[in-house]
Amino acid sequence: MNGIYLDNMATTQCRPEIFDAMLPWFMEHFGNPLSLHKLGQEALVAVENARSQVAALVNSAPDEIIFTGTGTESCNFAVKGLAQAYAKKGRHLVISAIEHHAVFNPVKYLEKNGYEVTEVPVDASGLVDPEDVAGAIRPDTVLVSVMLANNEIGTIQPVAEIGAITRQRGVLLHADGCAAVGNIPVDVAALGVDALSLSGHKFNGPKGAGALYLKKGTRITPLIHGGVQEQGRRAGADNVPAIVGLGKAAELAAAGMSERVSRITAMRNRLVRGILDNIDEVYYNGHAEARLPGHVNVAVNFVEGEALLLLLMHEGIMASSGSTCTSKALKASHVLSAIGLPEQVCQGSLQLTLGAGNTIAEMDKVIEALPRVVSRLRAMSPLYKKSAAKA
Ligand SMILES: *Cc1c(COP(=O)(O)O)cnc(C)c1O
Repeated sequence: MNGIYLDNMATTQCRPEIFDAMLPWFMEHFGNPLSLHKLGQEALVAVENARSQVAALVNSAPDEIIFTGTGTESCNFAVKGLAQAYAKKGRHLVISAIEHHAVFNPVKYLEKNGYEVTEVPVDASGLVDPEDVAGAIRPDTVLVSVMLANNEIGTIQPVAEIGAITRQRGVLLHADGCAAVGNIPVDVAALGVDALSLSGHKFNGPKGAGALYLKKGTRITPLIHGGVQEQGRRAGADNVPAIVGLGKAAELAAAGMSERVSRITAMRNRLVRGILDNIDEVYYNGHAEARLPGHVNVAVNFVEGEALLLLLMHEGIMASSGSTCTSKALKASHVLSAIGLPEQVCQGSLQLTLGAGNTIAEMDKVIEALPRVVSRLRAMSPLYKKSAAKA
């Protein structure tokens, strides 16, 4: 690949071992796991092997893993499927203010259909206070949904503490783990969640491969009705190559976890230091410790995120401006607003997300290029000149 890829929250590169593991299941072994003959049965074994691999990654039993098409589908399934299955108990949901749209929008959909929603705020580092969740739970609350790690600012939520509360109050807990699973150790038993969403392409697996962990005994209303696949909970012929790829990605992620986390954390710390030491008026967003290893979100005051991205692209650096708020017509990112970042500052939002493939040399190139690019943009900013004159 040419250039420096620092957009691993958008997606990650599929690893060659994973691609190789998927290949035979397209042509040679093309069977449907529901078929009783040899081709079908080998596909069934492959799917069940992948289920065990994903289960091992999150410390669940294999039959608690339901394969889905995407992380978005998993989140939709959890939110709508649990809310519907337990609607007799009540129609009230609790979510955090910084959920991904994969949770936010199905919740909005339910709201239009007679459900009530309480949104709990986050502090300036993006953390939910478990006491706020406790305070939001009512007798008719069926589900709490709080993401494990935020994709925009990288903050990791105290889900285990929230899980202790939901268990005690008899309320279901879903955690959107799409940004977290495969990137940090995740243990569904330790977290005390009833459901957890994950997505293969966020940890070097294929796109279009997701899963939902659903605790044994938990009822769920299917999103997709049809055949008996996934114990009747998600109909449609299994995407065997994608499932095999997701399983392999889970196996590799689990095997290299601690080494990868420390290597990526070290690169991130170097990058953050380099940015903060060489650029003034930068806000480092998210939590200092409770954050994804490879996640850097900064807001550079007096520049526009999209201009920054363009100039970085010329330097061969691929990053993201998150949910941008560059024009007044577009709303500020709900996450940056929720952590209280001033509107003007959030214009200069920049997300650099590291993955297993990045190197220290790449970090140093960014540390060299970014201050130069920022100076160039600020040289054109009357606001920056005014503030510099004041100082
Ligand atoms: C990526 C992501 C999703 C969506 O997963 P897809 O597989 O891309 O649909 C949901 N939530 C979070 C936090 C994510 O990072």
